[in-house]
Amino acid sequence: MSQEQEIEHVKCLIIGSGPAGYTAAIYAARADLKPVMYTGLEMGGQLTQTTDVDNFPGYPDGIMGPAMMEDFRKQAERFGTQIRFGYVSSVDFSSFPRKVVVDEIKTITADTVIIATGATAKWLGLPSEQKYNGFGVSACAVCDGFFFKGQDVAIVGAGDTAAEEATYLAKLCKKVYMLVRRDEFRASKAMVHRVLTTPNIEVIYNSEAVEILGNGKNVTGLEIINNQTNEKSKLDVEGFFVAIGHKPNTDIFKGWLEMDETGYLKTIPGTTKTNVEGVFASGDVQDHYYRQAVTAAGSGCMAALDAERYLAAKGDATPNVLASTYD
Ligand code: NDP
Repeated sequence: MSQEQEIEHVKCLIIGSGPAGYTAAIYAARADLKPVMYTGLEMGGQLTQTTDVDNFPGYPDGIMGPAMMEDFRKQAERFGTQIRFGYVSSVDFSSFPRKVVVDEIKTITADTVIIATGATAKWLGLPSEQKYNGFGVSACAVCDGFFFKGQDVAIVGAGDTAAEEATYLAKLCKKVYMLVRRDEFRASKAMVHRVLTTPNIEVIYNSEAVEILGNGKNVTGLEIINNQTNEKSKLDVEGFFVAIGHKPNTDIFKGWLEMDETGYLKTIPGTTKTNVEGVFASGDVQDHYYRQAVTAAGSGCMAALDAERYLAAKGDATPNVLASTYD
């Protein structure tokens, strides 16, 4: 490898290839920003880990997650987005243009950067969990609850997400078992009240999942353990929802961008602007609340429009001084 690396300059760099990244790419390409996208190691993002997607508008018969992300990719490419497989290993937002290092070797400078690196669902770490992921195991009740209409399911977690998802599932499913690993919830009092007053939710405290049971194709049950007595038991369920939190993929932006206490990027409300001029954030990386493909796509669109307007206001030129504020 030569010591002097070639530095490439782009108008609009998009990091991440989920619904937010691809939608930003479609809009940026159509606005002639000539976007370059780095996909990350999991091209297509979280949706490539799911099976049927029935809640994305425009697919009346539903679509498989990976196929939908292929459609997103093709649409972004149709308008000229350069899509490259690679991961961003570090950034330097201290000056204009913004600097981004890809795969630890290639430096790119960019007039605008759209961050769409998403979040990763936390899993329990059981081998059976990954075996049945998409076949009875899910990390998103809003996405997959419908497939378990009238059936019995279990959910693990005791935070606000788990509480909200348990009550969502209770409207669709016959019975919802909720596994809480301690003898109390982490969720807010109001959410706990909703859970405890929903008749078809049964909270099982001090309990943990030991193994997800299945017939090789689908989930058929769950083995659980009481972590106080070590007593094991079995629940007959067809679905198992993991709701133990998400981790936003923001490690490389630490020290550069403002984040909340759990690492989600902060944006100026109603926009995708971060605290750094010309750097925009869209999708799950800045949204722990809605976390849907369609909301991520919407904020990807916003990021491209924000980037376009930012460049237009700057006269499309790369400034050579670091502005301290902007609107
Ligand atoms: P949290 O980190 O708040 O909660 C995670 C939960 O999962 C905790 O109860 C934790 O248990 C449990 N957990 C973690 N690991 C395991 C494990 N290995 N086995 C069993 N249980 C485990 O994540 P959330 O996604 O619930 O919430 C994230 C943020 O989003 C929070 O700030 C929340 O308030 C907010 N939010 C707000 C909503 C609202 O206002 N309507 C809706 C959804 C989220 P333990 O308690 O024992 O640590």
